[in-house]
Amino acid sequence: MFNFHLPRTAAFEQVQTLARERILILDGAMGTQIQQLGLSEEDYTGHGSGCACRHHSDHPQKGNNDLLILTQPQAIEEIHFKYAMAGADIVETNTFSATTIAQADYGLEAAVHDLNADGARIVRRALDRATAIDGRPRFVAGAVGPTNRTASLSPDVNNPGYRAVTFDDLRIAYGQQVRGLIEGGADLILIETIFDTLNAKAAIFACFEAFAEHGARLPLMISGTITDASGRTLSGQTPTAFWNSVRHARPFTVGLNCALGASAMRPHIAELASVAETFTCAYPNAGLPNAFGQYDEGPQDTAVQVADFAREGLVNVVGGCCGTTPDHIRAIAEAVAPFPPRKVPA
Ligand SMILES: [Zn+2]
Repeated sequence: MFNFHLPRTAAFEQVQTLARERILILDGAMGTQIQQLGLSEEDYTGHGSGCACRHHSDHPQKGNNDLLILTQPQAIEEIHFKYAMAGADIVETNTFSATTIAQADYGLEAAVHDLNADGARIVRRALDRATAIDGRPRFVAGAVGPTNRTASLSPDVNNPGYRAVTFDDLRIAYGQQVRGLIEGGADLILIETIFDTLNAKAAIFACFEAFAEHGARLPLMISGTITDASGRTLSGQTPTAFWNSVRHARPFTVGLNCALGASAMRPHIAELASVAETFTCAYPNAGLPNAFGQYDEGPQDTAVQVADFAREGLVNVVGGCCGTTPDHIRAIAEAVAPFPPRKVPA
């Protein structure tokens, strides 16, 4: 199943070469930018009642950010374009929750293929516009989120053996998502915000099934989330254990995102950098959220901390997660520019 004899895509070779030359920049948060638009239920659905896209749902859609790919494509393209012009080499699709499992909350399981295919096309359009201005190559990362269910943990404390989702449920859902992303022109697949490694392994498996059908292998980026003070993922792994659980996929990058600000992430990315025989990627939140769930850390503050990762030789790709903006990404890109990329251990 993990067929490494498949040819690698042209974009794979290109991004690999660039990553040896310099630290690559990933984009920042979508949520913060979408929030600033102040969209109403009607904006989310595209008109007064129900969804203006060709998929029907009776559920309220406000908060279904992925749906904006179909109902507000111009606004989403503009956010991607801003990140590209801020210095991002790799820009993520707005598809964090575009699986049948996550879209079930909104009754839009049937929209999953279109969300992913169009989600990738919109990023490609934004990046082509940016490249037409400055000639720099840029890459579309198809964003694959963790879903809202855990395959290796029970949601019911009184029934620890219970599972709300199985490996195969996830494999099938991720497969639909990844096929859509590839059809839309994704250059990489980014499996992110991993709190349960078994979910990620189902996503990895689905990617290799999709690559076999596609006849070529895309670069995989795999990014875990450390959620507690002891430095473990929700499913209980240290960064080293996490690497050991995903290294068989030979990812282009392994890294960490979300949950913590850059300073708190630092020891964990340092541990990962010391063991991973591949490129590393870090995209922390803009500090920790305040009492209202908002992020106060300014672009320079975040950039100084991320530049420390670069100075210490810990990273190959950097960007921002929750609370970061195009200004954060511009500041991060400038701050890491003087430093060479991390050397991958032999
Ligand atoms: Zn985040």
